[in-house]
Amino acid sequence: MSHRLLPDGVSAQDVSAECLARMARRESTGLQSNVLGMVLVVLILGQSHPLWLLAGFVALRLAVLGYLQVLTRRVLRLSPAEAMSLGLEQRMVTGLAASGLTWGLLVWLLADIPHWGLQEQLMMMLLTVTSAMALIVTAHLGRGMVAFNMALWVVAGARFLSEPLATSWPLLTSLAVYMVVLWLFGRQLHAQARDAVIGDLRNRHLAAALEDSNAQLHAALDQAMALATKDPLTQALNRRAFLERAQLEAAAMQREGSTASLLLLDLDHFKAVNDRHGHATGDVVLQQACASVKACLREVDVLARWGGEEFLLLLPRTELAGALQVAERIRTSLERAQHPQWPPGLALTASIGIAPWPSALPVEQAISLADKALYRAKGMGRNRIDIWP
Ligand code: GH3
Ligand code: MG
Ligand code: MG
Repeated sequence: MSHRLLPDGVSAQDVSAECLARMARRESTGLQSNVLGMVLVVLILGQSHPLWLLAGFVALRLAVLGYLQVLTRRVLRLSPAEAMSLGLEQRMVTGLAASGLTWGLLVWLLADIPHWGLQEQLMMMLLTVTSAMALIVTAHLGRGMVAFNMALWVVAGARFLSEPLATSWPLLTSLAVYMVVLWLFGRQLHAQARDAVIGDLRNRHLAAALEDSNAQLHAALDQAMALATKDPLTQALNRRAFLERAQLEAAAMQREGSTASLLLLDLDHFKAVNDRHGHATGDVVLQQACASVKACLREVDVLARWGGEEFLLLLPRTELAGALQVAERIRTSLERAQHPQWPPGLALTASIGIAPWPSALPVEQAISLADKALYRAKGMGRNRIDIWP
């Protein structure tokens, strides 16, 4: 058991749960070597032992393996935390102890231990290999590792003790040494396995935290960008963002040799809307008027709130004839606009001034030409469109 301090966000429970899950994964692959071991036993002892004895051993092993296999599957199907809460760790330890016990019983099958023949030596070698492999397979579950090996060697040791001490003491001594070595090696193996799990959990935790703060950062950045570039009421671009965008468009126009059009739109008698229905209603009307204008535009067109109830539109690659069509679409759309939130009888119209914007002309000058056209449209009675010159 490692006594290292756990990193932030990793609990001892998490570590145990992950250790159990990894142990189960190894156990499910360890199944094949168990079956192989069983076949070896039958081959080695097949000549000298009655069939019923071997069949008994195989049946016992299969029962234990089946139990472990079912348990392992359950652990792997559940989330590690669920598996822990159902007490599957304890059952796994019990299953491993039973597994060790069945391997230990093999020594009882050996006919006459003090006279070591090839058969006995092979069998002891098999037990030793099984025991060592169990260390690796069960490294994540320290208690399971101890349970398996203790069960195996205590049963085996008991068999030797049933012989006269004079003949069995060399074997008992080497067994004792072997168990100490196993214990020390097993402890180290378990500590390593646990540290690897802790490291993985910490990395996972850090990655999740990083992803989280990354998402927060992105959201904050998006918000800051929106605040810096958009008008908060209508979500149209603000003046500064419009002028920046116009610079980009001017460069593109110069490359392409194309011309754009500018539209300056001003809502008619908007002061009266505020006076009659209140400023809050005026805000709602303004928002929805802006949405109606936007709905008439293409994706590439640029819409900005230029002043209180004044909007500036940039239509790239659009000659005056095209701009006039768009302006007319906007004018009629506003004239017909009705929204459930609007007070009954509210009539909304807009006047629009259009000016061409050849790339050579500074955008501010094109805007002032559109403003002149707008002024003329207002002078001619409002709810109309005028083109400069
Ligand atoms: P016209 O343009 O047709 O000459 O008349 P007008 O009444 O629209 O023109 P004026 O420029 O005198 O008034 C603009 C009004 O728009 C005055 C102001 O209260 C209103 N306004 C500007 N910004 C906002 C806003 O953010 N919310 C609301 N509710 N009203 C606004
Ligand atoms: Mg107005
Ligand atoms: Mg105005």
